Parts: sequence; structure tokens; C-alpha cells
Amino acid sequence: MDMYKAEEVADIVELRLDYIHNLDLGRLLAHKPLPVIATCRPVDEGGRFSGDQSSRLRLLRDACRLGVDFVDIELKAWSGFNRQGRTKRIISYHNFKETPVNLEDIGKRLDNTDADIIKLATMANSISDNLAIFNLLKKSQRPTIALCMGEEGLISRILTPKFGSFLTFASLSEGKESAPGQIPATELKSLYRFDEINEETEIYGVIGNPIAHSMSPAIHNAAFGRLGLNKIYLPFKVEEVVEFIEAFKAIGVKGYSVTIPHKERVLAALDEVDELAQKIGAVNTVVERGDRLFGYNTDSSAAISSLARALGESSKRTALSGKRAVVLGAGGAARAIVFGLSQCGAKVTIFNRTVERAKRLAEEVGAKWGALSDVSKTKMDILVNATSVGMYPEIDETPVKKEVFRPGLIVFDMVYNPLETRLLREAKGAGCRCITGLAMFVEQAKEQFELWTAKKAPARLMREVVLKRLGT
Ligand code: NAP
Repeated sequence: MDMYKAEEVADIVELRLDYIHNLDLGRLLAHKPLPVIATCRPVDEGGRFSGDQSSRLRLLRDACRLGVDFVDIELKAWSGFNRQGRTKRIISYHNFKETPVNLEDIGKRLDNTDADIIKLATMANSISDNLAIFNLLKKSQRPTIALCMGEEGLISRILTPKFGSFLTFASLSEGKESAPGQIPATELKSLYRFDEINEETEIYGVIGNPIAHSMSPAIHNAAFGRLGLNKIYLPFKVEEVVEFIEAFKAIGVKGYSVTIPHKERVLAALDEVDELAQKIGAVNTVVERGDRLFGYNTDSSAAISSLARALGESSKRTALSGKRAVVLGAGGAARAIVFGLSQCGAKVTIFNRTVERAKRLAEEVGAKWGALSDVSKTKMDILVNATSVGMYPEIDETPVKKEVFRPGLIVFDMVYNPLETRLLREAKGAGCRCITGLAMFVEQAKEQFELWTAKKAPARLMREVVLKRLGT
């Protein structure tokens, strides 16, 4: 039975009586393995109970009589529900549409009840809605559960121990959520190291959109855990990066990774940007030092290091100086490697679907440029794919025809999902030396970690985490 399974991952179990068919409360509560919250949510409060109010309250009174530890009763209904024996009352407010601007007033109304614990659960329509919840928790004088629902509200479910929420809710497994945005308790504990979060925990995270499938939380949380650091890394689904960074200064975020589509726009939110990142025009790492925000680009050095390493050279310049390098693409990743290659003295030619973009980038670094269809006419030692062609789920696509390949050519695909792209498969078949995007991905994360912590990153662990996530 689910209640017994919950014992392995939870401290308290919420029994959603409105979800249970053929309810036999006496049997259910006779051998409860954990403290129990009894909840029976009516349809108009987001639950499934469609009976009348008096039978709903009767059910909750029965649960109290049978010894549940807590009973959850809505703000609208609490005045008709007196204290029942030793059962503690959670008086709650839910809003499935939004996090209302008058949240503090609602908090005060809850505070004016004789609740043992107050609860507010509101829908986050933007990541900033979480700040209202954190603010309320900080000010609250009595035991409070406060969280945002929905994908944008995930961080409020994770950070509850930092801001002093009485508890957080997690599902027993995927598909068993009782509210939008819940994640399984095992994920909360293993991926986000929930049990180790406290008031002192420092916050880091990745800013992007979409962000749900980012591997960065898994990599950095595992690395923080390995080094025993009191730090947590979160996914931030963000629409407007400058506003977001400004607003989140209120909770003192110590560092960010920045991904598509914010790498360029984020520069406007920073106090200082490292020289190379400035030239590239893109930042993928933000570090907070004494209230000032510094921007770096670890994609560039990571791409160049993984190329040099594959060439068997410890010096990037020795490895790449004078080499004829063809770069496919003119987006953020292409800019990062093109500037790195030029700095190392490589002779770069850029090909892109939108030729005008290739031309603009080439003119910035003194490189040559052309259309993707011209790649086969070019002599080269290294071919780099910095387009997103071939990336999951479009795994049968490739940016160039296989006629381009010849034995000994070095082919580096920045795409790392899948690890072996069609481009690399065809290049390998033609006798090329192939480099996957994995080494670069791990390297850029490792450099970020070291910028944030000034400690050596556990690179092997980070690589294992990515490989596990990629299912290899
Ligand atoms: P981006 O800024 O959006 O640029 C995408 C590039 O791909 C542009 O040059 C675009 O050409 C080209 N492109 C997209 N669809 C195409 C198509 N159907 N045919 C031809 N060209 C196409 O993205 P990004 O940040 O540079 O990322 C590019 C790739 O690098 C992604 O797969 C990303 O995952 C990978 N990456 C890997 C790492 C790593 O650590 N391994 C790090 C960063 C990025 P147009 O200019 O014509 O639109």
C-alpha cells in the first residue's frame, strides 16, 4: 500500500481522502506508519470531492476521531470546523490560477484564525511569483507551509527548508502528483539533496527557456554533494533575463549558468564581463562577488580544450596554430569556438545557413565565410559542427554531405545528445578522427563549478552523471 511505501521517503504522509475509492478510514488509519495529514479537497478548491459540505466535514471529523495528526481545512470552511481532540489544524488557501498581489493580506487572514499551521499554495505564472512566497515565509510568525504550484513554482518546493516552510509536498512517484508541479520525493532527495538544505544553503542555478530537460542541475548538485558544499543548484525557467536577475538579488543567488536563449541578453544585467566573453558577445556563467555580478564564457575555453586534448597536445596554441578549421554555424556556440580558434592562431572559415550571419562573424575575427553548400570545396584539417542540426529529436539530420569527409580529418560535433550524431557516424565511417560534444559539455560545467567554488571540480563524476542521463 502507498502509505507504507511513503515511509521510505517521507516524514509525514498526506492522505487525500478525495482521491480514495471505497474509503475504509478505520482500516486505513489502524496501523499508520507515519504522522498523517487528512485532506479532503472539494472540486472548487482543486480537489475531487463532489459531495456536499456537511458530508465532507463529517469525513474529516471521523479522520480526527481515528487519530490523524493533522487535518487540512480550507480558509473558507474553517469557521465550521472546531478543533477536534489532539489533531492539529492546518488552515489553507489555494489559488490554481495565480499568485495574487494581495498574498500578504491573505496571509494575515490565515494568521487571524486559530490554526496550528497556516498553508498557502498559489500558481506561479512567472518565476518571480516564488519571491512573494519566500517573502511571506520570512515574515511569518507561526508555522507556515507556503509554496508555488506549476513548473515555474518548482524552486519554492525545493527551497522550503531555506525559507522555513513547515514542510514541502512531493509525490510518491511520477504520475501520482496531487497538485501541479510536484516532483517525486526520491528526486527531491537525490537530485536536489533536499535533506541537506538549510537557512545557510547558497543558491545557484541555470537560467533558460525551456529548461525542464537541462542536465545542469544533475551535474552541479552531484558535484556540490561530492565536495560536501552547502550549495543547491536549481532550474530557473525565465522569460526576461535582466528583470529576473534584478528581482532575484533579493534572495542572494551566488551564481548562474546561462543557456538558450539568454546568453547574449544577460550581458545587460552584469557589472563586469570578462574580455573574451565581451568579444564573443555571449556569457554562459555568472558569478556573484560582493554584490557585483561578473560574466564569463566557459563554452569557448571548453571547446578549445576538448579539441586540443583530442589532438594530443597540452598547449591549445600548439595544437591549433596554423590549422585550417571549418566551423558550421554562426550562433552562440559558433561564436565561442570561432573566437577561441582565432586566438590560438587557427585559419578559420565559417559556413552558415544564414550566410549574412556567417559573414558578420567572419568579419569580426578576420575569418573567411561561405554558404553551407560550399563546405565540400574547402580544404580543412578540422571540421566543427556548431549548429543544432542532428540534435535530439532530429537525430537523422546532418549539416553536411558525407563527401566532405576524408581519412585523418578531425571532426568535432558540439551536439552531445545523442553522443554519436549522424555526422560523427558518417565521419567515422570515412576514417575521420571524431570528437563528441560530451567532453566540451563536461569541461564548460567544470570551469563554471571552479569559478563558483574556487575548488577543483569532480570532473569524472560530472561525466558519469551526463552519461547516465543520456542513457549510455
Ligand atoms: P543557436 O545560437 O540557436 O545557433 C544555432 C545555429 O544552428 C545557427 O547557426 C543556425 O543557423 C543553425 N541551424 C539551426 N537549424 C538549422 C538547420 N535546420 N539547418 C542549418 N543550420 C541550422 O544555438 P547555439 O547555442 O549556438 O547551439 C548550437 C548547438 O551547439 C546546439 O546543439 C547546442 O546543444 C550545442 N552546444 C553544445 C555545447 C557543449 O557543451 N557541447 C555548448 C553549447 C552549445 P541560422 O543562423 O541560419 O539560424
